[in-house]
Amino acid sequence: MMPLVSSTHLLQAARANGYGIGAFNVHTLEMLQAVIDAAEETNSPVILQSTVGTVKHLGADYIAAMATTAANRSRVPVALHLDHCTDFDIIVQCIRAGYSSVMIDASHETFEENVRQTLKVTEIALAAGVNVEAELGKVGGVEDEIVVAENEALMADPDDCAKFIELTRVPTLAPAIGTAHGIYKGEPQIDFDRIQRIAALVSVPLVLHGGSGIPEDKVKRAISLGMAKMNIATEIRIVFSDAIKAVFAQNPDENDPRKYMIPAKKAVKEAAIIKMIMLGSVGKANDAR
Ligand SMILES: [Zn+2]
Repeated sequence: MMPLVSSTHLLQAARANGYGIGAFNVHTLEMLQAVIDAAEETNSPVILQSTVGTVKHLGADYIAAMATTAANRSRVPVALHLDHCTDFDIIVQCIRAGYSSVMIDASHETFEENVRQTLKVTEIALAAGVNVEAELGKVGGVEDEIVVAENEALMADPDDCAKFIELTRVPTLAPAIGTAHGIYKGEPQIDFDRIQRIAALVSVPLVLHGGSGIPEDKVKRAISLGMAKMNIATEIRIVFSDAIKAVFAQNPDENDPRKYMIPAKKAVKEAAIIKMIMLGSVGKANDAR
């Protein structure tokens, strides 16, 4: 039996040993179980994530209870992370509920304000043994429809990253380097040179946002340069929903949730395994211990 663990040590081991850990956004019990099943089958460390929207939908206590049960039953280390949060009160609520990692996203603010808000979170979270992630620059995507890859000004500046970590003591950092949220229309324009320059200046594990649909060679290259966590949200949401749609296409009158949740769960598990193989986390469950 193992409770939820902070993702700090998992991610430090990942960066030190050149692999990545998948952080999967889950919205239902079945999605959560499917990701855990994938981690167990591949003996991978794993990070479960929920967005603020899902916290409002399900409740931080319910999500933490599900994730804690999963961790207690699992052989692999499991962390529970709050994705993109701009609200300090929700961060506190999630830490109290049992989250082992939180993201404070003040990337839309000035550098100074981002430092101030991040520091406020690291001060309470690190004392509680909870990991913290912050963002520098702006990750584009469906939320704001900004094409980050074409706008140098929105990417994270390497010197700023080093300064930011020194000022905030944040243990994990998501620098904007050209990826976006949602599904890419073309190939994502990842600025690998920027990842390399950031990684040369900061030793903390780096986080790659917008992991859905990044081709395998680019994922591997980003990891080799210092990315240690990759967020995967849209892709597993799509396979989950498509599997349910397929059941209803066959049988529009289906009314037993198990009949459509079982194939949906299987689809998420398969998609998660593919990501774990791609990230190189297979067999690394005991790496951080
Ligand atoms: Zn993100």
